[in-house]
Amino acid sequence: MYVFGPIPSRRLGRSLGVSPIPPKTCSYSCVYCQLGRMKNLQVDRESFFPKQDILAEILDAVRTSNPDCITFTGDGEPTLCRDIGWLIVQIKLNSQIPVAVITNGSLIHRKDVRQDLKKSDIIIPSLDAGNEKVFWKTNRPHPGIDYHRLVMGLKALRFEFCGELFLDVMLVKGVNDTKEALGELKSAIEAIKPDKVFFQTPTRPPAESWVEVPGRSTLSYVKNLFPYSVLYDDVESEQVEMNECLTAKQAIVNICSRHPLLFEQAVEIERRLSSSGTIRQLIDEGVLKKMKYHHHSFLLLDFGHQTMSEEERVI
Ligand code: SF4
Repeated sequence: MYVFGPIPSRRLGRSLGVSPIPPKTCSYSCVYCQLGRMKNLQVDRESFFPKQDILAEILDAVRTSNPDCITFTGDGEPTLCRDIGWLIVQIKLNSQIPVAVITNGSLIHRKDVRQDLKKSDIIIPSLDAGNEKVFWKTNRPHPGIDYHRLVMGLKALRFEFCGELFLDVMLVKGVNDTKEALGELKSAIEAIKPDKVFFQTPTRPPAESWVEVPGRSTLSYVKNLFPYSVLYDDVESEQVEMNECLTAKQAIVNICSRHPLLFEQAVEIERRLSSSGTIRQLIDEGVLKKMKYHHHSFLLLDFGHQTMSEEERVI
């Protein structure tokens, strides 16, 4: 299963997600990652799966669901898939639907990666830091990744890419939200010149239990410092399209395999599919656990967040 959704996205409309990489395949291990800690970081690109199989699944889903956008994302870094450029070209040959890529940006300094991404319509790299020290503290990259090369790569992409370039910034209290860190980040962003900047805060259970959302006064400071940006500091709800799933169990586990699911949304899935008792059963079987984070309860796969302590589990 390489394709999921379509799911409503605030930025992309009804977005059909494509994950061309195995779960938890990434070049970073961000402190806020909702997939938990990454164990084996990698920077080498690979053909993880047969590209024809991925394409067939995408085109099939496009025919049946007619999404607003096809988005390469994944449970890790999608540019690690060596076939992403070929896949984008094939999608463009077979449909009129815009293609977006959400990436951590770590490989964009490479010409082959920029060449692949330039075939898309929207690129959304992340940049959480304005200097090397904050970068290492926040994103904990593979040792082969260099912060200055990352920024150079983003600048080169801006110069070469004719589509829309958005930047994603995740703010973590006490890590990258000091006035000094934000000032340096502003300089980096102004040098890259993206079309839009989106600030987000950790809203789902993060890899490290100490990760916190910045305070209200910091968020106001950010809004003033970056008047052209958009700030999202609430949990984006994800309404699954029930026609893609056979059972409540499949719907809930599918979403939890990508990110922690709001408990109330899982209850809504149970209700819509007349399948009460599914959540309780999945927890009793050890498939899911329930956890509280930032005023909300979430369900997540029971092996995804080993870094959380037992006391943090509310079930
Ligand atoms: S947040 Fe994204 S870039 Fe960071 S470790 Fe998780 S998947 Fe990788």
